[in-house]
Amino acid sequence: MKKKIIAANFKMNKTDEEIRKYFAVFLDNINGLKNRSSFQNLDAELIFAPTFTALCAAYKIILPYFDFIKLSSQNIYYEKSGAYTGEISIDMIKNCGCSYAIIGHSERRNIFGESDELIGRKIEAVYGECGLTPILCVGENLEIRNKNGQEKFVENQLNIGLNSIKGRKISSLIIAYEPVWAIGTGMPIKADDGEKIHGFIRGYVDANFSVEGLRVIYGGSVTESNIKELMAKPHIDGVLVGGASLDPKIFCNIFKLAAGLYGGADMLTANK
Ligand code: PEP
Repeated sequence: MKKKIIAANFKMNKTDEEIRKYFAVFLDNINGLKNRSSFQNLDAELIFAPTFTALCAAYKIILPYFDFIKLSSQNIYYEKSGAYTGEISIDMIKNCGCSYAIIGHSERRNIFGESDELIGRKIEAVYGECGLTPILCVGENLEIRNKNGQEKFVENQLNIGLNSIKGRKISSLIIAYEPVWAIGTGMPIKADDGEKIHGFIRGYVDANFSVEGLRVIYGGSVTESNIKELMAKPHIDGVLVGGASLDPKIFCNIFKLAAGLYGGADMLTANK
């Protein structure tokens, strides 16, 4: 059974000290977390992506809950080591407890000029190692959406980004569909439109690659008020939350609202 995903992308926010304070509030706000057995029925997984400098602090805190709270980096570089000032390797983030790596976030693409080809090399490097699942971000800008070109655009991003796994059997992959026009704008996708493009992405990956544990998650202005509608759609396997994840109480509520749909209704109270 593929677990639904509720992921937090903290972007360039929170020092390690702030992360400790965040988790103190977050963990306190989840009913039943101390009762670990109750979480075995929960068909949802939490992922946090703090900054590199806060990963180790976060890892120490979440270690007792590692069966349902996982860590992700926000980026990696594809080389193993060497003269790559400012970059961070896959081994380094694994050493800090990461199970996932976000790759190709639109802020990396648009602010730092990451190309589809570079992103493809990063995906290749992740699959060259064990124990790490990529969260590959794709998504069109408003101009493309207005011309109804989103499927073609995303198809191209997937083709280049996943080029290295053509003909290979892959056990786990997360695609984060994050339309650029929805990120940080307060303009989330309509749930029906989300369902449509997620269905397209799933169909495209299934037809062209061999991925066993594919999950297609949505990101872009997810809040407490739209999480249930989005997560109720069969092709939306989870969410990647930016701005609304920065407040531990709000993110906890988002998690509870989502988890209530996936086996946590008895144990989690959405409006606590
Ligand atoms: C993101 O940047 O991954 C994101 C989804 O941001 P926000 O939730 O703030 O739109």
